[in-house]
Amino acid sequence: MTQTRKIPFGKPWITDAERNAVLGVLAGDVLTHGPQAHEFEKEFVAAIGGGHALTLSNGTAALHLAYWQLGIGAGDEVIVPAQTHVATVHAVEVVGARPVFVDCDRLTGNMTPEAIEAAVTARTRAIGLVHFVGIPCDMPAIMKTAAKHDLRVVEDCALALGTRWDGVHAGLFGDAGTFSFYPVKHITTGDGGMLVARHADLAQKVSKARAFGVDRTFAERSVPGVYDVLSLGINYRLSDINSAIGREQLKRLGTILERRARNFAALKSGLTGLEHVAVLDVTAANQTNSHYCLTAVLDGPLAGQRTEIIRRLNAAGVGTSVYYPHPIPRLAYYREKYREDLSRFPNAARISDQSIALPVGPHLEVDDMNYIAHELTKIVRDLTCSKKN
Ligand SMILES: *Cc1c(COP(=O)(O)O)cnc(C)c1O
Repeated sequence: MTQTRKIPFGKPWITDAERNAVLGVLAGDVLTHGPQAHEFEKEFVAAIGGGHALTLSNGTAALHLAYWQLGIGAGDEVIVPAQTHVATVHAVEVVGARPVFVDCDRLTGNMTPEAIEAAVTARTRAIGLVHFVGIPCDMPAIMKTAAKHDLRVVEDCALALGTRWDGVHAGLFGDAGTFSFYPVKHITTGDGGMLVARHADLAQKVSKARAFGVDRTFAERSVPGVYDVLSLGINYRLSDINSAIGREQLKRLGTILERRARNFAALKSGLTGLEHVAVLDVTAANQTNSHYCLTAVLDGPLAGQRTEIIRRLNAAGVGTSVYYPHPIPRLAYYREKYREDLSRFPNAARISDQSIALPVGPHLEVDDMNYIAHELTKIVRDLTCSKKN
């Protein structure tokens, strides 16, 4: 078969604006943690509509700092989704707390408020949720559960730049929201991250902890080299080079989200009525999906055919991915440490084993979506027909 197209799953959108911004920083005196990082934080707050933003070296650093600076540690339990990026759970593990896994909802891939409530024990200190591939969790209900049990809430928003519930951006409901600027995310800085805190005191703590626990910033030192260290800290800063790239990316966020929404709608409508293929999406009009990808879940006769379908899609030039290939309790480290009964996570296993993530990024056009829908439909028809024979 001649390959007619090449549709990569993800492709960073880098322009001359980013290139020039980097050269501008390199021509100046401050390469890290200077004016670019500071401006990026202010512009990020403006883009999402609130909070105190802190640039960090990556999304995992943001998650780690969130739990550490909220004082979560040994003896504490944190309720986490079974279906997520491993970093969501590693951050809990790294501070010495115990992750308590919860299965996700079949239609959205998210933890439900009811499932969270059922997992609360006397040792629960926090909820560490993820907005699955940009589909928002029911934050008003989850915050009620959190208030009832006096729990902290950390929102992993790595794929949720643009995600909203009742118009309020993801990351602004809980104590902290964490974002990632890894190359395939909505915007990139190469590597990079942001923590958004609802309260100034957490922001203050994170600001110190990301830079060795030093009590004053470089700019605040009246006498150079004179400072004190009042608390433990680490180096999780973001450089001005990365921050300058982020500022340019952020200017195109509106366009990026529009293109993703347009592509998602086109692809979803192209798959409507296709038997045994379900699309994960928001469930009501008050919810805004950031459209990281389109997750197609295969059922019935297609359930065991994922590898073959991916192979044929790839052969037709369509790049795909899987979010995520294993529920966390099934990964060797967690499996051996916690020995969870894996049958407790049927929806997570279903998404892990039977879903395909299809591309909807801003590098693609509606025409590409029609092509993907056409190819997938052809493959599905072919496989279901040969099954019946
Ligand atoms: C990418 C991602 C992370 C990790 O972010 P990094 O910037 O790569 O450290 C964490 N959680 C989720 C849900 C992610 O998609």
